[in-house]
Amino acid sequence: MMLRHLLVQIKGFFGDKSRLRKRDPLIGDNTDFKCFEWVIGQRFTSRQSFKNVVAKYGILQGSNITITSSNNHRKQNIIMKCVSRCKFYLYGGWDSRRVVYVVKSVDGEHNCSRNMKKNRQMKSRWVADQFLEVFKVRPHWQAKEIMATIKKTFSVLVNKDFAYRVMYHTHRMLHGSMLEHYTKLGSNIEALKHINPQSLVKLVNNPTRVDNANVSQRLHMCFEGLKHGWLEGYRKVICIDACFLKTFLGGQLLSAIGRDHNDQMYPISWAVVEGDENDLVIKSYEHQAILNGVDKVFPKAEHRHCARHIYAHWHKSFKGEELKLLFWKAIKAYNKADFEDA
Ligand SMILES: [Zn+2]
Repeated sequence: MMLRHLLVQIKGFFGDKSRLRKRDPLIGDNTDFKCFEWVIGQRFTSRQSFKNVVAKYGILQGSNITITSSNNHRKQNIIMKCVSRCKFYLYGGWDSRRVVYVVKSVDGEHNCSRNMKKNRQMKSRWVADQFLEVFKVRPHWQAKEIMATIKKTFSVLVNKDFAYRVMYHTHRMLHGSMLEHYTKLGSNIEALKHINPQSLVKLVNNPTRVDNANVSQRLHMCFEGLKHGWLEGYRKVICIDACFLKTFLGGQLLSAIGRDHNDQMYPISWAVVEGDENDLVIKSYEHQAILNGVDKVFPKAEHRHCARHIYAHWHKSFKGEELKLLFWKAIKAYNKADFEDA
């Protein structure tokens, strides 16, 4: 008799649990918010998760919802209502027995129309998070295009200020990750030296740091394979170029590039060095420094110049489209006859 009673109790317990699970789904990232409906008992892992879901629901279904009452101490209660004062009402709170945040009361019906002009739940930080992958590929994504994409994706019209705030947040998120990458530089170099000891990697730390922190000042890299490949199989042409790194880290990227048999670029070596992009004087000096350096290291080498830079100087005294075309025709001539013809 006792055993039977116990079996009935166990069955009741499990039966009850499966019924609970079916009735009260856990709402999170996997939920489809385009056709989402509010039901009493829906569970959330935390109060913040509940707020995130309300934001997603509001933005994707085009309703302008706002918090009308919030109490973090009394069962973490939140009451949400529609800004256009329609029927919608949502009340969430903490369920300490089940240790989850739940919807305690709801009227999910709206009698307002879709609002495109403003959405209180749409925060620039949230949008920045959604578009982070796009910003990685297009760091100079323009405010105008951001506004158009938000309009197309979320059907909400935002102003230019909002687009700039989105840019600001993505900038911060991406720069944070950039610093993290630079902190891995030391271990990456050690790993490279271990696998490929003949490669040249020189990292110079900043000696002027008072706190003795390991802040890198410049880095020079040349892989063994590239070095041997160039020495053994390529024309002895080295093109040196530099560009400014357009990030908060600053500095310049210097590269030495050769030409392969298909007239394509062949990277030989590269370096990241310090340098201020606002300092125009240094830029012109640096050009002279390249000339001097090449004269010193390779005194017998023929020193050619970049055609685009020659044109930039030459164009100051000889203006006009016709002369420009003639210049490039002469430059591109592969033989003497073509050159004289030009
Ligand atoms: Zn409404």
